Amino acid sequence: MLSIETLYFSSTISRVTILLIFGVLLISQRNARYLWHWSVALLSSGLGTALTFYYGNKSNSSPLLSLIVTSLFLTSLVTSWSGLRLFYGRSVPIVWLALLPLLPSALYTFAVYVGVTIKVTLPFIYLISAAISALALYEILLSANRRIFSQYLVAMAFAGYIVILGISAVLILAGMLMANAYDSSIVSMAFDHMASILVYFGYIAMTGERAALDLQRLAETDPLTALGNRRGGRRILERIHADANREECYSLLIGDIDHFKQVNDTLGHETGDAVLTLLSRRLTSAIRKHDSALRWGGEEFLIVLPDTDINEAERLAERLRTKVAGEPFMIGQLQLNVTLSIGIATYRVGDSTFENTLLRGDQALYCAKLAGRNRSSRQLEAPS
Ligand code: GH3
Ligand code: MG
Ligand code: MG
Repeated sequence: MLSIETLYFSSTISRVTILLIFGVLLISQRNARYLWHWSVALLSSGLGTALTFYYGNKSNSSPLLSLIVTSLFLTSLVTSWSGLRLFYGRSVPIVWLALLPLLPSALYTFAVYVGVTIKVTLPFIYLISAAISALALYEILLSANRRIFSQYLVAMAFAGYIVILGISAVLILAGMLMANAYDSSIVSMAFDHMASILVYFGYIAMTGERAALDLQRLAETDPLTALGNRRGGRRILERIHADANREECYSLLIGDIDHFKQVNDTLGHETGDAVLTLLSRRLTSAIRKHDSALRWGGEEFLIVLPDTDINEAERLAERLRTKVAGEPFMIGQLQLNVTLSIGIATYRVGDSTFENTLLRGDQALYCAKLAGRNRSSRQLEAPS
């Protein structure tokens, strides 16, 4: 039979072990503030568990120990919540960070001191803990559309905490569960053991997934214009081409700045860079929500148009072209007229990869250049 002491002991040493892993993570990611908050969460719950284990769960008898242990457990929940806020790029209200653990602990200790029964004080702490767990769960669900899958493991654990703590509080208040019942403490301790592993390994996995996503974003972004680069573009094209094989049609626009070499030669490379940046902004502001603008090469841009036929693509190409040519670019005091030639291509049944579609776009671009530049040109008609 499991004893509560064994559970407290194993829970403490598993937290110490996970803390070692957090320590190593912190050495390499010192600037990740959320990791510091989660480490404090782990440390305080570990200390709380160790103290309870060492003093044999006598927290009810000594108000000071009761204050310390309760504050430690609440601090653990609150810093879990604040770490999640930081992880998702939200600010942390420092006042709440201090008040949330201290205020309920002080109230609890005062109640114990003046003799309020455990039948009332324990559900109070359980409900406060459930509320803070709900805050943590809320932070995760707010970001549910992100591609970080391990966050759902952590969410599951917090949902479990809310249910277990909430049910226990209600049962104790209703007199259906003894506040210090041995069997129920074993069950909740075992649950906490499992949930804490889910939470802390979940945090480690979330950190890893975030780092991988950041790296992928960096590798797929052009640093000058902040548009997707060729690598990111290939991923989008492969996906859209696979969809096209199933049902949808897509179109591509390949835009190339006219006589860009002259800009570099007469005004310098830096001015050329500024033109590329301003042009990218104009393109991004002119495309639709589901389209993607990419820097395909030096002064070549690829616009991916999902679910778009050739006629609509031509209208969009003209809109982009006139948006660029219609208004000069301001670079410092300089007013510069820039024009774009655009090749238009649409997916055809029989295109085995997106490269086939792209090739027709390149040929169309060549035709636009030959025909005098500052114009758009459609892919050649399919031979009948
Ligand atoms: P066309 O109308 O036929 O397209 O003429 P063009 O001068 O634009 O074409 P060309 O291919 O001869 O020149 C492209 C120029 O783009 C050459 C290169 O120096 C410039 N370029 C490519 N990447 C960059 C960049 O990142 N910054 C700057 N400033 N220039 C770049
Ligand atoms: Mg070019
Ligand atoms: Mg050019």
